[in-house]
Amino acid sequence: MKKKGLLIVLSGPSGSGKGTICKRFLEKNEAVSLSVSATTRKPREGEEHGVHYFFKTKDEFVEMIEKNHLLEYVHVFDNYYGTPKDYVLKEIELGRDVILEIEIEGAAKVKEAYADAVLVFVLPPSIEELKRRIQGRGTESMEQIEDRLGRSLKEIGCITNYSYFIVNEDVDVAVRELEAIMTAEKDNTRRYLCEIRKEFGL
Ligand code: 5GP
Repeated sequence: MKKKGLLIVLSGPSGSGKGTICKRFLEKNEAVSLSVSATTRKPREGEEHGVHYFFKTKDEFVEMIEKNHLLEYVHVFDNYYGTPKDYVLKEIELGRDVILEIEIEGAAKVKEAYADAVLVFVLPPSIEELKRRIQGRGTESMEQIEDRLGRSLKEIGCITNYSYFIVNEDVDVAVRELEAIMTAEKDNTRRYLCEIRKEFGL
């Protein structure tokens, strides 16, 4: 029986460590594809076009919106971020799992556009630990830290949109939990009812 790939959406506030989980997960699970987003923000040191992001001008990004080339997009932190549609849908059709690491507003839009998406939220272990991680960057003023914390808590408030959550106390454990979620979803009867019926002529 040929199964479609899963579309996994991973979100979490700044300080949750979702980026680290995603990276470690992809190192361990080479068959899973990462969706590379398009953005108008400038590359940071060490970031490569086509690897970390597709870096676009505002005009190029607007053209992608107008041509309906994006599965979702948002305008945050004064920049556009969006998920190229063709790559994601093609991978899923080929039976490959795809992971998106995106913020909450975009995740909600993905769920609207593609109801089969599996939304997973990464939480820090406690509010104290969240504060510690945000402060730990050591480069920001008290006001910036308060602002970041406020934003993180607001994002955690949107957890109701997510089917699963992972508490990131230990990255290896968190990665195993994400693998377990994917394994369970691949055996979800409702998700594959069409394929089962087709296979057995029901
Ligand atoms: P950064 O600028 O630090 O790379 O990313 C800022 C935020 O944008 C992060 O929360 C990241 O997950 C999110 N993000 C990255 N790509 C996309 C995307 O394609 N769509 C949406 N909605 N958010 C994205």
